[in-house]
Amino acid sequence: MIDRDVFHGFLEAIHHLPEMAQPAPLSDDERVSRAKSVMRAKTDRGLALDLEACVHCGYCSEACHFYQGTQDPRYSPSRKLDLLRRVHARESSAFAPLQRLFTPDITVAELQAWQELVYDACTECGRCSMICPMGINIARGVNVMREALFEAGLAPLELMAVAQEQAGRGTVFGVGPAELKRTLDALRAQGIAIPLDEPKADIMLVSTVIDVLLYQDALAATARILNHLGLNWTLRSAGFEAANFGLLSGSETLQKAATKRLVDEALAIGARTVILPECGHAYPALRWEGRLDNGDPLPFEVLAVSEFVGREITSGRLHVTPGEQGRKITYHDACKLARHGGVMDEPRAALKALGMELTETTPTAEKNWCCGGGAGAFLINRAAPLRHKAWEIKRRQIDDTGADTVVVSCASCRLNFMAGAEADQWSTRIDSVVEMVARQLPA
Ligand code: SF4
Ligand code: SF4
Repeated sequence: MIDRDVFHGFLEAIHHLPEMAQPAPLSDDERVSRAKSVMRAKTDRGLALDLEACVHCGYCSEACHFYQGTQDPRYSPSRKLDLLRRVHARESSAFAPLQRLFTPDITVAELQAWQELVYDACTECGRCSMICPMGINIARGVNVMREALFEAGLAPLELMAVAQEQAGRGTVFGVGPAELKRTLDALRAQGIAIPLDEPKADIMLVSTVIDVLLYQDALAATARILNHLGLNWTLRSAGFEAANFGLLSGSETLQKAATKRLVDEALAIGARTVILPECGHAYPALRWEGRLDNGDPLPFEVLAVSEFVGREITSGRLHVTPGEQGRKITYHDACKLARHGGVMDEPRAALKALGMELTETTPTAEKNWCCGGGAGAFLINRAAPLRHKAWEIKRRQIDDTGADTVVVSCASCRLNFMAGAEADQWSTRIDSVVEMVARQLPA
């Protein structure tokens, strides 16, 4: 059961984030210089080819929910890389000396204008790259732009505030080990066994601020499934936060530090598997970006909880009883899990095992439309109207299935769905894969 007061309290906290940010006192020249330095350093051969290969055909615009929702040419995916393209053309392309004669240098005013384009108007969903005939990885270029803007002190204040909190105090929205313990104690009082800080365990479960504060049922559901399977698992108070505001804000230093915290805890307890909560961006942050200090691949498996549950069901180790009959459900693929991570079959396997009628959206799976609130966009206050335009595409897609329930496997998507539903008085039920499965565990 979601506490609406807590949800509204969370929205209110987002509202006040800008007041907590400590903007960097840099001159305009310093901002431009820092941004260009990141752009140059991050434009490797692959990105340089991407920047040079665009034929400006415009197909990517058809794929972008922000362009489709507004028809505003500023939101064309290709255009989001224009500053990066100009810096590359002037400073590192084969014709750089010639380009400098007629291509103007970037300005701080342009960097400020691009903040909206690469944070509010791009969720790094990767849908445009699937359609681009040249195979250009626009999301990667946008991520480099975020890093450049962060370094120039020009990230949105909301993301800057949370990134500074996570880098400084190690908490996110004030949630640290004490708040985690309080939530776990409340769940234990309901009779759910939740191990914390066990010195050794096969599985390390990671949670997230949103689950600790708001979607506690998802955390409880995961615990119940792990207990039902008789697995040896634990949460660790020194490494429980899956949200990575380094990745979202563009701070590579924080991104690595937040990931390292999880890796170190998993290594310390000898975990063979790390299970991530229903959180889209946590998946690439640990599974694809996670490395040992020496750069080696992680010696443990990283699974999203919906992926884990689907695998357990498919393998026959986890049995569920039929779910609520008569419900017609559809599933929303989170971009980072499905398009980027390939996690599509497992959540569906879990839902099908519940025996409910699953109707796919059109399009679906890796071609699914983004909810519009990922990659930190949900936290940017001024982005609310733009986000809603993207959400309207998503809502129509779900309505067209005739489903009475949309099932998600990402807390950010869920937040965006809840905000959209409240704004539109949309009555479709919003549920979670792991919670639905836990409700149907045999006695
Ligand atoms: S689809 Fe590809 S080539 Fe066409 S405009 Fe977009 S990025 Fe450029
Ligand atoms: S990655 Fe997604 S949000 Fe960003 S430009 Fe491409 S389609 Fe739009």
